[in-house]
Amino acid sequence: MSMNAGDFASWIRHAAELVTADADRLTRLDAAIGDGDHGLNLDRGFRAAAEALPEEVSPGKVLGAAGRAIVSKTGGASGPLYGTALRRAGKALGDAADVDAASLGAALRAALEGVQDLGKAVEGDKTMIDALAPAVAAYEAALADGSGLADCVRAAAGAADRGAEATVPMQARKGRASYLGARSTGHMDPGASSTALLLRALGDVVAGEG
Ligand code: ADP
Ligand code: MG
Repeated sequence: MSMNAGDFASWIRHAAELVTADADRLTRLDAAIGDGDHGLNLDRGFRAAAEALPEEVSPGKVLGAAGRAIVSKTGGASGPLYGTALRRAGKALGDAADVDAASLGAALRAALEGVQDLGKAVEGDKTMIDALAPAVAAYEAALADGSGLADCVRAAAGAADRGAEATVPMQARKGRASYLGARSTGHMDPGASSTALLLRALGDVVAGEG
């Protein structure tokens, strides 16, 4: 199986739907350890991304346009981070019209590197990296085992969910939540949770449910 520009556009649109549906939950998570705007930020950003999608172009251009819209419309730390992730992923895909399992894995790896270049967070800092890094690792492990694209994405989405859960006991060392020190423990990181949501959206689309 491979993904074309339309599939990537479906992903962004479905991600926007899931973010809208979950915006209150994401905002509550952020109210506990941040400033209570994460759901709002992402909702605004992904709606703008869904509206900015170009037609009849390459997967790389779809992700690039979505990333630019998110950078310009999403407030907070997460906007530049998610925008960079999408733009880097788009760049990694180049002008290819069809994206196979290996290229999607390289794009996810590029997205992770983009977020880390910008935000300097590592695993264990209680950020979106705690969902994204294990997701990319699980994707690559599934790919190495010979899994197809949909199964690789399923593995990534599952690892992101577990990674988000694992942020609950962590103490934040990056972002706004780090100002709380030890009081940041006992709550799931909102950005890790939204990363898991975005990968679930991708899983739905490649499973034909999006
Ligand atoms: P803000 O914190 O500016 O209000 P959001 O609420 O939209 O922005 O996003 C908060 C999320 O951003 C956090 O839950 C965390 O996952 C993520 N985040 C913050 N700083 C970093 C960083 N340096 N690296 C990676 N992710 C980060
Ligand atoms: Mg916030």
